[in-house]
Amino acid sequence: MPKAIGIDIGAGSIKCALVDTDAHTIIRRIDEPTPIDWTSMLSTLNRLIDTIAEEENYHIGIAFPGLIDYQNQIAIHCPNISYINNLTVDQLNRKNNIVFGNDADLALYGEQIARHITTGTIAYITLGSGVGGAISIDGSKPGELGLPVEFGHIKLASNGRQCHCGGNGCLESYFSGWALQIVANQLGHSDVTSLIADYNQPAVKTVIDEALQYLAMGIANLIILFGANEIILNGKIANMTHLFLPSLKEAIDKNVFLKPYCHYDIKPSGLIDEAGIIGAAAFSLTK
Ligand SMILES: [Zn+2]
Repeated sequence: MPKAIGIDIGAGSIKCALVDTDAHTIIRRIDEPTPIDWTSMLSTLNRLIDTIAEEENYHIGIAFPGLIDYQNQIAIHCPNISYINNLTVDQLNRKNNIVFGNDADLALYGEQIARHITTGTIAYITLGSGVGGAISIDGSKPGELGLPVEFGHIKLASNGRQCHCGGNGCLESYFSGWALQIVANQLGHSDVTSLIADYNQPAVKTVIDEALQYLAMGIANLIILFGANEIILNGKIANMTHLFLPSLKEAIDKNVFLKPYCHYDIKPSGLIDEAGIIGAAAFSLTK
């Protein structure tokens, strides 16, 4: 049974697991909160790897929520984890074969290999603290298209809201974990999960539907630009997709003037929060 380690670094937590890369299943897994500085991150990563690996020298794939230079294997910039800048594999100071990838790219790769997807244009959107995205065309692997897709930072409004990336009017500043947390606070909810759970309350539905218009515009742009025929949603917010998917689909359809002439499907991921880990582990074996 071929095995590899997959690590998925998010703004809120790190997931580290030993993966059966044939069956695409998790053998062992540890989740921890994301450290607040690089020194703690380095010691956390090494401790998690040592605990999961049990002295085996497995290949390791690491998913970062940001921009990756695939050719030179550098994690260039992570908007929601500001201390990760121009990080190279060497800085981890390990003997394992380690590969870096963008979290959405690797989660999409997890979907591709688990479902044996080799044709079509697949758009993958992660709805977590931030919003990530990835595109695969006819089974292309992470980085192969040469397109860094920062879906959360496509511009949807002129002089719009301030975003964590330093720009204005990004999708993420309207629909993301951090943007919805502001709404949750205003409506007296402790967090975004409890806010979305109350989606059917009129006051909550109104503000979420307003934010959904921006997500719908972004997805419609992917369909119009790339001819995406499958859009997979994943991430902490997407796990509650069943509540708002009908409204989202309706809003997307309004923005796709090609709707009568093309087919696209919008669905939640079947791998839930394991997609990134499974994709990262599998990707490490391709290098
Ligand atoms: Zn932005």
